[in-house]
Amino acid sequence: MTRLSPLLAQATPVTVDHGEGCYLYGTDGRRYLDFTAGIGVTSTGHCHPHVVEAARRQVGSLIHGQYTTVMHQPLLELTERLGAVLPENLDSLFFANSGSEAVEASLRLARQSTGRPNVIVFHGGFHGRTVATATMTTSGTRFSAGFSPLMGGVHVAPFPNAYRYGWSEEEATAFALKELDYIFATLTAPNETAAFVVEPVLGEGGYVPGNTTFFHGLRERADRYGILLVIDEIQTGFGRTGKFFGHQHFDVQPDIITIAKGLASGFPLSGIAASAELMAKGWPGSQGGTYGGNAVSCAAAVATLEVIEKEGLVTNAAERGAQLLEGARRTAGAGVGDIRGLGLLVGSEFTAPDGTPDRATATAAQQLAARKGLLLLTCGAHMNVVRMVPPLIVSEQQVEDALAIWSEVLDEM
Ligand code: PMP
Repeated sequence: MTRLSPLLAQATPVTVDHGEGCYLYGTDGRRYLDFTAGIGVTSTGHCHPHVVEAARRQVGSLIHGQYTTVMHQPLLELTERLGAVLPENLDSLFFANSGSEAVEASLRLARQSTGRPNVIVFHGGFHGRTVATATMTTSGTRFSAGFSPLMGGVHVAPFPNAYRYGWSEEEATAFALKELDYIFATLTAPNETAAFVVEPVLGEGGYVPGNTTFFHGLRERADRYGILLVIDEIQTGFGRTGKFFGHQHFDVQPDIITIAKGLASGFPLSGIAASAELMAKGWPGSQGGTYGGNAVSCAAAVATLEVIEKEGLVTNAAERGAQLLEGARRTAGAGVGDIRGLGLLVGSEFTAPDGTPDRATATAAQQLAARKGLLLLTCGAHMNVVRMVPPLIVSEQQVEDALAIWSEVLDEM
């Protein structure tokens, strides 16, 4: 008998039969409130009728066009639609399939356009699982364990992770920027540095939001030294944080953003956006791939953008996010050391009485929640943060339902 690889470890015991809105229906006949959204992907909910209809129509007319062979209409339409929501200076797009590929595309463009070899990433960041992006990932040793040598040219600077350092946000930010300057003096000179690659909110690293002072510090150094600011919006884009893109909370202009996840409601699609001038400095032929910008994914993405706009999902993410964060703070008891987030990214960090990360309790809480019908994920370097990342269509009542289950879980733990 053929079996699934044990490498495909599952976070919950649930096998899904189908999904609708914020619910997944298991083959066990139970209904689950899904606060994982396929790791922040199904922002319009499972099988939103408008997205389903757009994909169905596209499947019937063209499934695969291969955009370096022939251009296709859904990709052109998506490019146009994205123009209305992207920061004004980012007027040129490249499409791929996964988040990791998008980050690699940004890395290639940054190195090619600057002629510089090194990049600086920020501690606790997650940028993917390919060898290059795993090298750039510092949110857990598991992501790069056992397949060294990794890619060269990556240096790691601190992210203002106040709780982890045990400092105020101001202290953590001042330290992060000071350390960045020390890295320039000791590890990679500015004129050897192509890019900063950074998330607006550490995602897999534990739902730690950045802040305005930090991002202004990065922008100021990027301008001073001709370094590109690459903002990885893969988890934070398309309304997830309560603004269209996560960096918009911090009044900062990126040179490149990476996009994926919430872009196409679960169809594989990713990309990078940059100015046409910067994009033109990439080397022809060096970016591409068989499946990038798939026609059905692009049609689903157009429909997704329509749903985000028509249903006011960015505003809903801000309002429901505030409700969720406030509720999680209200229900937290002993053992939860910190609760933080931005929009519909809310994390509860479990800490043992001696101050060490408490993975066992976080895992047990997640498992108990699943048995009670609420699906959650963990994250953080120590997997001790329980994260709530529901679809952006989540209602006030569904947030209350999730909080009621979470409160029961914490009481019983
Ligand atoms: N960057 C960020 C910020 C992410 O959250 C992720 C996925 N969790 C990735 C990159 C990688 O995306 P993918 O798994 O689609 O390769």
